[in-house]
Amino acid sequence: MTTQLWGRVFVDGAVREAMLVTIAGEVIVDVAHEPHPPAGAQVVHGVLAPGFIDVHVHGGDGADFMDGTDEAAARVAAFHATRGTTTLAATTLSGSREDLQRAVTSIARVSRERLRGAEICGLHLEGPYINRMRAGAQDPASIRPANIEEVSSLHALAPHLRWIVTIAPEVEGARALIEHFRDRILFSIGHTSADFGDAVAALSWGAAHFTHLFNAMTGMHHREPGAVGAALESNEATAELIADGIHVHPAVLRIAAAAMPDRIALITDAVRACGMPDGTYKLYEHEFTVADGAARLANGTLAGSVLTMIRAVQNMVELAGLPIEVVLPLATHVPARILGVADRKGKIERGYDADLVVLSEKFAIERVLVRGEDVPLP
Ligand SMILES: [Zn+2]
Repeated sequence: MTTQLWGRVFVDGAVREAMLVTIAGEVIVDVAHEPHPPAGAQVVHGVLAPGFIDVHVHGGDGADFMDGTDEAAARVAAFHATRGTTTLAATTLSGSREDLQRAVTSIARVSRERLRGAEICGLHLEGPYINRMRAGAQDPASIRPANIEEVSSLHALAPHLRWIVTIAPEVEGARALIEHFRDRILFSIGHTSADFGDAVAALSWGAAHFTHLFNAMTGMHHREPGAVGAALESNEATAELIADGIHVHPAVLRIAAAAMPDRIALITDAVRACGMPDGTYKLYEHEFTVADGAARLANGTLAGSVLTMIRAVQNMVELAGLPIEVVLPLATHVPARILGVADRKGKIERGYDADLVVLSEKFAIERVLVRGEDVPLP
């Protein structure tokens, strides 16, 4: 079946008028300038952009990948698709070995089933090899030394996915783990007390990404640049940013985007309360409460977010003051590179998957397509 969409389209780094995008089945087969919509073409009201790609998301709509059920994993993927996410990396937390195995098994199964909703292309293990002092809302009892054998057995459950492992370089066994898997797994520095030198060393071992830059890591002081300084100073590493206006100050969002052009990926770090009413919810072993757009433990520690990708994009434009042309790649092309799918996702280009989102002027989601198929919107 062929579908044609005509109107304003984000293509080749700019929002262009009067573009015609032709989709055949699951794939974009043509992108061309066409002064008038051809007969049968659907006119886009808003901007047609590539679908968003979230490399760090735990849950939504009441479900969490750590629930370890196929139903929960499918529910998270279906929910975030309604907010513009067409591809994601299912993200786990520090948990027991059995719970991680159960979660990875169901994520692997659901990713193969190609259900309605965002496509699961990656698996992000956020812990358990992190620093207990920087645990944030993660379960301290589940945090443990890095273990090559455990990662091998988990990876074997889902070798078809792109793997990201958040690790604190100072944890026992971290260097051996990174050096062992560096060709197969993207290691991300995070939940760490590593100073600048430690973080630079971890990059030399093979780490190449930073988990929610600024949060749960050493900040940048002009005489002690910290893990943040190592990220900003690096020429190759990529980094995640939680643009909810709570985790990171809008000025710092702008600074990060300027310092790391083409290397910042907007993430949600969303938990199960995302898309749900304010109230009290469970994050693995912890309870947290959502109020005023923030998810917090009883002691005030932020427990992930209730952010969606469309709000992250909107915040980068409206709070951080960046042009939409600068922001969209941070939600599409950069995370596509991180997930190793940039040859087929993250751009509107001939031969790319028809993963598309239509945004209104006010950042409402008007339409979402995953591989050419419409996502039912609420
Ligand atoms: Zn997280």
